[in-house]
Amino acid sequence: MKIGALREGFAGEARVAVTPASAGHLMKLGHEVFVESGAGARAGFSDDAYRAAGVTVVPSADELIALVDVVAKVRPPAEGEIAQMREGQTLISFFYPSQNAELLSLAKEQGVTAIAMDMVPRISRAQKMDALSSMANIAGYRAVIEAANNFGRFFTGQVTAAGKVPPAKVLVVGAGVAGLAAIGTAVSLGAQVYAFDVRPEVAEQIESMGAEFVYLDFEDAQDGAATGGYAAPSSPEFREKQLAKFRELAPQMDVVITTALIPGRDAPKLWTRDMVEAMKPGSVIVDLAAERGGNCELTIPDEKHVTENGVTIIGYTDFPSRMGAQASELYGNNIRHFVADLTPKKDGVIQHNMEDDVIRGATVTHDRDITWPPPPPKIA
Ligand code: NAD
Repeated sequence: MKIGALREGFAGEARVAVTPASAGHLMKLGHEVFVESGAGARAGFSDDAYRAAGVTVVPSADELIALVDVVAKVRPPAEGEIAQMREGQTLISFFYPSQNAELLSLAKEQGVTAIAMDMVPRISRAQKMDALSSMANIAGYRAVIEAANNFGRFFTGQVTAAGKVPPAKVLVVGAGVAGLAAIGTAVSLGAQVYAFDVRPEVAEQIESMGAEFVYLDFEDAQDGAATGGYAAPSSPEFREKQLAKFRELAPQMDVVITTALIPGRDAPKLWTRDMVEAMKPGSVIVDLAAERGGNCELTIPDEKHVTENGVTIIGYTDFPSRMGAQASELYGNNIRHFVADLTPKKDGVIQHNMEDDVIRGATVTHDRDITWPPPPPKIA
């Protein structure tokens, strides 16, 4: 079948859904690959690089959509893009169906099969297609790089002829995929790293990475830990203990990276105004939860600002795009693995098997029906 990647229309988006390397894998599955001219430019992949990989470069989005069977994108489609699609065509992109009811209806009306990369079930077999994780990993890494870039001191401790430098103290709040990546990066830069999560089972992982788990003196260690590895809202008592601990830590920390999220809710407010005010001038907060309202009360989504007491707060929401080449490579791999599951015979023929847990879970519209939310996967 014909698979084509669109140039992302979202301002500042540097990622692309198909790279020259991932195109090669798609071709091995028997598919023909197309890209809109300029689609990879911001990720460092020129039209010529695609041509050299055997990809056909198409001048415009209109022509690409008219030509292909499968449209691949990174960001959720614009309404105009879906409106141009036709019955039986497939779209693969991030979709966030819970936030995009109108897009879902439109895809259904157009007869488009929409595959949401953000809905790929997080089961072992699907890890290679888990774009939420591949992007969160980049975001966690990049958060530390941004913090280091805005912190006027070393991360690592040093003893030099010009003076002794203590290591930076970094607190990571939330140790999911992004938080663990941030911990690993901060430890590798030589910082003294502390981390907290409401799920006590991550303590071992945090400690094995060379960071210190921040324990709370609270009798119900499971408070805030929901099933399936995700967090649930904490009880008011637990939250009070947590905030009291953060208040104690705030004046000591040089860098705070917050990543705490609870599925389907706004980000919990965990780093309050008084904590920011208690931090030293020159400290940095990177709020990876900014897109969902932020974990820090003073975060401004999409912006970096400095408070009156000299704390830099970074609320960017485009960390993966800030590493466009790497993010495209990993996202391109997530997509080509998904397409491999859609092409079981490697004969260029897509079989949309709704009995398959992973395909079913990610499919949000199919056969003129809204198929989201999916039933729970049969295999854990
Ligand atoms: P997420 O982005 O939903 O949340 C980030 C972290 O914030 C989580 O660790 C959560 O516990 C934490 N958090 C929520 N409220 C908090 C609070 N008040 N204080 C401190 N921390 C708080 O998480 P994620 O990165 O998507 O990962 C969620 C789970 O999914 C993890 O258990 C992870 O290991 C698991 N996972 C499994 C697979 C797989 O098996 N294929 C893939 C990816 C992730």
